[in-house]
Amino acid sequence: MTDVSETPLIAQRIASIRQTLPMSVRLIAVTKNVSVTAIRAAYTAGIRDFGESRIQETEEKQAQLHDLPEITWHLIGHLQSNKVPKAIAQFQWIHSVDSLKLAQRLDRVAESLSSAPHVCLQVKLLPDPNKYGWTVPELLADLVDLDQLSQIRIRGLMVIPPAGLSADQTLSVFQQARVIADQIRCQSWKHLKIQELSMGMSGDYPLAIQAGATMIRLGTVLFGDRPVLESHLQPNG
Ligand SMILES: *Cc1c(COP(=O)(O)O)cnc(C)c1O
Repeated sequence: MTDVSETPLIAQRIASIRQTLPMSVRLIAVTKNVSVTAIRAAYTAGIRDFGESRIQETEEKQAQLHDLPEITWHLIGHLQSNKVPKAIAQFQWIHSVDSLKLAQRLDRVAESLSSAPHVCLQVKLLPDPNKYGWTVPELLADLVDLDQLSQIRIRGLMVIPPAGLSADQTLSVFQQARVIADQIRCQSWKHLKIQELSMGMSGDYPLAIQAGATMIRLGTVLFGDRPVLESHLQPNG
């Protein structure tokens, strides 16, 4: 956990990264395993979009951050079906929608809660056994059904390249994502609007921006290293 003494450092990192970002890119500060003190520091430095991967952790933090009214919360970790009601209550954006079944359930629950969360569809451009998400052929096959969902607002794609790629390979994954998003956007849909590309993390965000990312999700470069245990062994809780 970050301690108070790191607060100026967080503000500095945020300011220097923001200087390099095009206006079209929304910076989401990823605060899984990051203390509420550090979240407050980021808020003071101007951040309004925060990304979390776990429902329980977010619930605890939100209870301590009630006085920061302008936060938009983004869920970026795998969402289990039984946690859909909580996810809808806690998050305005859900980037990690990874199956038609989950999208349909979100739509039903959102309607019952009179909520209209923004959603990104998580896509795997390359095979990756460690990641959830649609393959491209699967996604294309599900679009007609996804377009029936009128309560959730499907607004983009979320992409995480597999670990261990070269910069060229990573850029290529991001560019393919861009091509697919453009393709889908240009078709005529009733509800689907694939305008956003949520891609780019600490290690690869300049490449993602080069390829047209509209939302980048940065943790480590803003807050420093997370404890290895929680962040790498249980990323999907
Ligand atoms: C943890 C996480 C991030 C942030 O990763 P960093 O490398 O620390 O910037 C972004 N996106 C997702 C989906 C994550 O789980």
